[in-house]
Amino acid sequence: MRPIQMVDLISQYEKIQEEIDKAVIDVVRSSAYINGPEVKSFQQEMEDYLGVRHVIPCANGTDALQLTMMALDLQPGDEVITASFTYVATAEVIALLKLTPVLVDVDPVTFNIDVDAVKKAISPKTKAIVPVHLFGQCADMAPLMALAKAHDLYVIEDTAQAIGAKYSFPDGRVESAGCMGDFGGTSFFPSKNLGCYGDGGAIFTNDDALASRVRMMANHGQSVRYYHDEIGVNSRLDSIQAAILRIKLRHLDMYIEARQLAAQRYDEAFADCEALITPKRASNSTHVFHQYTLQTNGISRDEMVAFLGERDIPAMIYYPVPLHMQKAYTDERYKEGMFPVTEDLCKTVFSLPMHTELSIEQQQLIIDAVLAFATVEN
Ligand SMILES: *Cc1c(COP(=O)(O)O)cnc(C)c1O
Repeated sequence: MRPIQMVDLISQYEKIQEEIDKAVIDVVRSSAYINGPEVKSFQQEMEDYLGVRHVIPCANGTDALQLTMMALDLQPGDEVITASFTYVATAEVIALLKLTPVLVDVDPVTFNIDVDAVKKAISPKTKAIVPVHLFGQCADMAPLMALAKAHDLYVIEDTAQAIGAKYSFPDGRVESAGCMGDFGGTSFFPSKNLGCYGDGGAIFTNDDALASRVRMMANHGQSVRYYHDEIGVNSRLDSIQAAILRIKLRHLDMYIEARQLAAQRYDEAFADCEALITPKRASNSTHVFHQYTLQTNGISRDEMVAFLGERDIPAMIYYPVPLHMQKAYTDERYKEGMFPVTEDLCKTVFSLPMHTELSIEQQQLIIDAVLAFATVEN
């Protein structure tokens, strides 16, 4: 049996090795390394997969988010509301552009942005909301979109962890994560659900004008070469990564099913353990399980993770420190205790190995170790 890893990218590669190797060599032989035909094909295949008008590839998920805010012409001092329980990139780009990140708490069941808290945080300076589809399921987009519409706010979805998740609106409409707001941004970092073999990212939009603007922003602010209408950046997905992503996109639905099946096995194993809270599913979103994240209930999370570590079972804490308690993001507006759900989650959550190649045998070892600690402690 292979050593258990949080994400096993080698085993996944081995199953598609022939296809991948050929695709990579073909790009190398073509010398079309930047903006080659593979990038264009990937873009079109991704548009078809998601059912969105425009996919704009870029260099990474952080750039994707930053580029959307540049394309929307957000100005220094504009407020952008986002969740306090997320990866730093979400707030980082807001702050880098001299916009003001306004953090709000999350929902204790789904860990996603609390729409009532968003409503309370709206001020005359608010320009945009950035919901994060955390761990693989969509934030509650129907009320969020209605709120944004009522207050004339942009919505930018951070879809780095939820590519392929589907959200159902009350009228029965089903949409892909990242394709509901004005913009969605995603990451193809290797460990993401659709990962390449390096850095990569993409922006999604159904708006033709916004698509042209964001494309221009990603290309030094030019739509005609050497004519720079805006101050942009250089952010590209390279052809080798695009070629790899084209192959992996064909397997994405199968990869999602493998993750969901693994999640179901974990759920069943931990269902009766009072010391553990298994991840709940949102009623209106599928869950693509970027992470399988449990909460400890009355036992020490840190001791649990250490106990697993001693048995060579990796477990990670996403995230140990809420954004409003991070040194770089300290602000007089924020104090400890302001976002009780986020703060509680940062003390109780831990994520178990979750990937497309997790075997039943490996999962049983993980389950046995988790239960050994949870049961003794209980
Ligand atoms: C991974 C991630 C990002 C950033 O993606 P990179 O490609 O690493 O820049 C942004 N937001 C969330 C929620 C992420 O998980």
